Amino acid sequence: MKVYKFGGASVRNADGVRNLRKIIDEEQHLFIIVSAMGKTTNALERVFAAVQRQAPEEARAEIAALREYHAAIIEDLWRGPKRLDAVERLFGELEQVAEGTGYAACDAELWYDRIVAYGELVSTTIISEYLNYAGVPNRWIDMRRCFLTEQRHKDAGVDIEASTPRLREALAGCPETIFVGQGFIGGAPDGTTTTLGREGSDYSAAVVANILNAESMSVWKDVDGILNADPKIFPDAVQIAELNYLDTIELAYSGAQIIHPKTIKPLQNKNIPLYVRPFGDKRKPGTVIRGMSAPVDVPILILKKDQVLLTIRSRDFSFVLEEKFATIFSLLERFRIKANLIHNSAVNLSLCVDNSWHIDEAVGALRQAGFDVMKTDRMELLTIRGYTPELWRRYAIGRQVFIRQATQATVRIVRRCS
Ligand code: ASP
Ligand code: MG
Repeated sequence: MKVYKFGGASVRNADGVRNLRKIIDEEQHLFIIVSAMGKTTNALERVFAAVQRQAPEEARAEIAALREYHAAIIEDLWRGPKRLDAVERLFGELEQVAEGTGYAACDAELWYDRIVAYGELVSTTIISEYLNYAGVPNRWIDMRRCFLTEQRHKDAGVDIEASTPRLREALAGCPETIFVGQGFIGGAPDGTTTTLGREGSDYSAAVVANILNAESMSVWKDVDGILNADPKIFPDAVQIAELNYLDTIELAYSGAQIIHPKTIKPLQNKNIPLYVRPFGDKRKPGTVIRGMSAPVDVPILILKKDQVLLTIRSRDFSFVLEEKFATIFSLLERFRIKANLIHNSAVNLSLCVDNSWHIDEAVGALRQAGFDVMKTDRMELLTIRGYTPELWRRYAIGRQVFIRQATQATVRIVRRCS
């Protein structure tokens, strides 16, 4: 079995779906994981925000636009007027949910998942039906039933062991050898729908690959492969042919938007190679990620945006020691705030964290627990692996640099956004 993952940008229009059909070509024994089409997830986040604000007419308008967008793709694929009952049903359900009946702010994450999951449900339904129509018999798989996740919404992890029999059973006895499943979603023990974190479809594909002992996983993207930096920010970026798992995890964790950080572990555990390949041209080699490969020989630059710097100090001027660390981190965990960089001195603990919904609540709770907290907004975290004196001079020095943390191989810089 092979696992192919197609992201939202690849299937944002009918040409993209037709191209997916070409890429799978003669393949047999293939599990295809698909994201929501184009920017659908962002639109669904706006639907959720409207429900949160109790503005059902705004939610309806967003959904109407999504209906039209998907209807146009369907008509283009079938080359004429065409409606898919299953898609109509899904939009009907979504409209019902988005009325927000019974919405409670304490269940915001639950509602987020209920709404946002429709992107993948719709995209896979369209693609599965289209493939059948285009002569590629396949089976639509409901990942809400196959992936058992933690009882945690908006960023759930998959329980691989418990999901193994579920997924295998879903495939057993099917005459088809091609399967189409949703990225990004699963089901919690209480039966509600969960999502796995934004851009989580890569992770879904990796878990499927792990469970099915796939020979390989391929992510088809709108780039030629993995570059050593984002070319929009660092113009002299170059492509990397091969990466090992460890470097990839570090890169993803530092914010490189190549693949979701949770993707590597399920692959590494079964030694499954991951190919990152250009959607536009399947003859190009792309980048391969696997266990045995030499460290990369070019510096790698990763910029993580939308960061906040928290500087924490105990009010009585005592040292910030281990037991205080425990208090601070359990508070942050409670508000699901992730520290991307930690820096401490005798009395200060500085944390560079993702800007999130709950940051102000967390700051309040820390203050209540007896800490002085200074919050600095508009920060970004730059990580350079394999830095050179020239890169050091260019990025690690200057007025905008708040924290600079260096090991032999890597320097991490917290600086004000430009
Ligand atoms: N559709 C989801 C998102 O946009 C998951 C994914 O694309 O991987 O975040
Ligand atoms: Mg996406």
